Amino acid sequence: MPAYEDVVLGGLGRMASRCALVSAGPAQDATIFWGGEAFEAWLGVDPRGRAIAGLGEGLAQSLSEIIRDALATAEPVRSRCNRVSGGVVATTEILGLPLRGRTGERFVLVCLAGETTRTNLLKALFAATGHGMVAASAVRDPDGRPVDLQIIALNEAAAAMLGRPAEALIWQRVSVALPHLRHSAALALLFDALDGQQRVAFEVNDRAVAGAPRHLRIEGAPLGDLLGLILTDIDDSKARESSARLLFETNPLPMWVTGEDGRFLAVNDAAVAHYGFARDAFLSMDLSEIAVGTPAGFDGSSRHRRRDGSLIDVTAFTRAIPFEGRSARLTALVDVTSQRRAEARIVHMAHHDALTDLPNRVLFRERLMAAIAHQAAGGIVALLCLDLDRFKLVNDTLGHPAGDALLRQAAARLTACVPDGIVSRLGGDEFAILVGVPEREAASAIGERVIAALTRPFTIGGHEVCVGASVGIALAPGDAGDPDMLLRKADMALYAAKAAGRRTARAFEPAMEAEIQARRALERDLRAAFAASGLQVHYQPQRESRDLGIVGCEALLRWNHPERGFISPAEFVPIAEDIGLIGPLGEWVLRTACREAAGWARPVRVAVNLSPLQFRTADLAGQVRAVLAESGLDPRRLELEITESVLLSDSAANIALLHDLRALGVRIAIDDFGIGYSSLSYLRTFPFDKIKIDRSFTAALGSDPHSAAIVRAVADLAVNLGMDTVAEGVETQEQSVLLRLCGCTELQGFLLGRPVPAEEFRRLVAMTDIPPIAA
Ligand code: C2E
Ligand code: CA
Ligand code: CA
Repeated sequence: MPAYEDVVLGGLGRMASRCALVSAGPAQDATIFWGGEAFEAWLGVDPRGRAIAGLGEGLAQSLSEIIRDALATAEPVRSRCNRVSGGVVATTEILGLPLRGRTGERFVLVCLAGETTRTNLLKALFAATGHGMVAASAVRDPDGRPVDLQIIALNEAAAAMLGRPAEALIWQRVSVALPHLRHSAALALLFDALDGQQRVAFEVNDRAVAGAPRHLRIEGAPLGDLLGLILTDIDDSKARESSARLLFETNPLPMWVTGEDGRFLAVNDAAVAHYGFARDAFLSMDLSEIAVGTPAGFDGSSRHRRRDGSLIDVTAFTRAIPFEGRSARLTALVDVTSQRRAEARIVHMAHHDALTDLPNRVLFRERLMAAIAHQAAGGIVALLCLDLDRFKLVNDTLGHPAGDALLRQAAARLTACVPDGIVSRLGGDEFAILVGVPEREAASAIGERVIAALTRPFTIGGHEVCVGASVGIALAPGDAGDPDMLLRKADMALYAAKAAGRRTARAFEPAMEAEIQARRALERDLRAAFAASGLQVHYQPQRESRDLGIVGCEALLRWNHPERGFISPAEFVPIAEDIGLIGPLGEWVLRTACREAAGWARPVRVAVNLSPLQFRTADLAGQVRAVLAESGLDPRRLELEITESVLLSDSAANIALLHDLRALGVRIAIDDFGIGYSSLSYLRTFPFDKIKIDRSFTAALGSDPHSAAIVRAVADLAVNLGMDTVAEGVETQEQSVLLRLCGCTELQGFLLGRPVPAEEFRRLVAMTDIPPIAA
């Protein structure tokens, strides 16, 4: 760092005029204590004794910076210094030279290093912006009204937008210079702005000079009699706007623009087509005239009414937009009506039975739960479970379409029968009814009414069909407090009702629970008994009707229960069917009977009952063939008894199976003949070897003349078809005589011999000559 004395004493020569010496005190309060002539002229005031911080026009900042930097770096510093005065910026290059006095004081020599350049601030700003700037002055008529404007300043951007050089525009009348304004009311707007001393803004779209923008936005700001105009090229945004407009107009989605008051400001073609209103009609309405009911669905959809009155569900997508200078909303609409309908349909389907359209189990359970929850206030909730008696038979005899028709009619009757209840189809031929009742007895009365309603004959496809129903009733809160328990108890009551005989209504009783437990126990015992060979086969003779000689027998299952004694197969065979035991059980009966028969003294026939379910077990024919082979029984001595139901369900397959069985040489008998719907028609479906006339005909013989006629007709038919006939349940001598007269070839019944254990029947067969008939 040069010493102050060296510089000052060494002489700055000509440079001294352009310099100033600044002392930098400890507190940074730099002061000029000497300045040359040129420096003084530059500064414009006498520099001596002036504090740097006190200098105006921006000098304080620039000079302090230079001084500070020079002192801090102890190096010469070169920088620009700007002064602003009278709209002009003066820029000078300054050199700061740090010096040190002999006694350690510090100075900075500040020199004007170059020429000062001056710039017009306004021009600089004008030039810096891409906006066109025009300053114009009012031209007024003698009355003081503005008639035109004269351009007194403009920038290059304005010249470019107006498509002419600035020199050609300056001093021109605005009406001449701005072709954009020529054919519009724009000038008038500007005059208003001038007189009202307020800003205006508008757009003009006149065809301008080629190459200049077509769309301009013009803002005018008055300042006394001057008007500042800012021109903005809006060609780009106009282009965007027009493509947005095109997108709106041609959008396949209905779209509209509404004002803040809901009025339609614009609608597109799709909206016109979809809603059916003409554009004018649309534009004269507001949103509230087409919106219906609740403002929005849970998913944000709303409901609108079209011109033709039809309702549609729409999802609206809305956003705020400026529209013609106002705030508005643009809405696009997606019609979700069919989607909603499909959804509603699915929800309905999930909760209703397709066949009857009644609430299904799911919905019914919900309703039941709600009813129980509400009934806390008092009253009784009655639950009735019912199923149709003998429905399966109708289904099997007349076909599934008839079964369906029956279910539909039954559903309608139930609904009509309990108008204030909820009827549900739980599945198959099971229905349930939920109804509020004042007391227990009312529930039973409804049960009886329901049975009566379903007992009246149905007409289905020209057939008259009788079914009837069994009803189980459970009550809340008495029997149970929750829907599942209540359903379970009503089901138990139904079970009991069915067991008590058809067309019965039973209310739940705690004892039923015990009964069901007993049934479970019975199932267990039956399994155990079968496994432990606790079952036996008894044989009941079948005798020739004239000489009463034993020609055959029927093998009948017997179960001697350790606690309950003899249980009828009528009771336990259905249980075996239910628990899937009938297959092995039936095979065991067949094997036992064939083995037994193979050992008899005479070749009398043995008849074995086949459950319809055995027809579903794999290879029944193979099973019979194996049993015959293993027992060595002549196939002609084996007779298989089947019931009509074998021909009802899956009849084609079953008939084929019957033919297979017959092909083995065994005989096929049709059991319980005459109690079905169309017994006679079954005789055509398969050439049976024997018809077993049901006990009920035998029992009615003495009293009901029709019975005798039927038995005679069946016997005659059988003769013609080459079949044997056996009458069942013969208990009296009189029946025996009548049956013989009617033409029955064989008789079976207590009169002709009760079912007896194997050893006894063996002896019976051996005693050939004297037909042993109970007196
Ligand atoms: P079902 O085939 O009609 O058998 C005849 C039933 O009538 C037998 O009853 C027999 O004891 C009874 N019965 C015989 N004569 C008379 C009479 O004069 N008066 C009266 N009231 N009844 C008489 P059971 O043995 O109790 O058998 C009942 C039903 O159980 C049978 O009816 C049959 O459907 C079924 N069943 C019996 N054993 C078997 C078997 O091994 N397999 C299958 N699948 N079912 C069997
Ligand atoms: Ca039988
Ligand atoms: Ca029978």
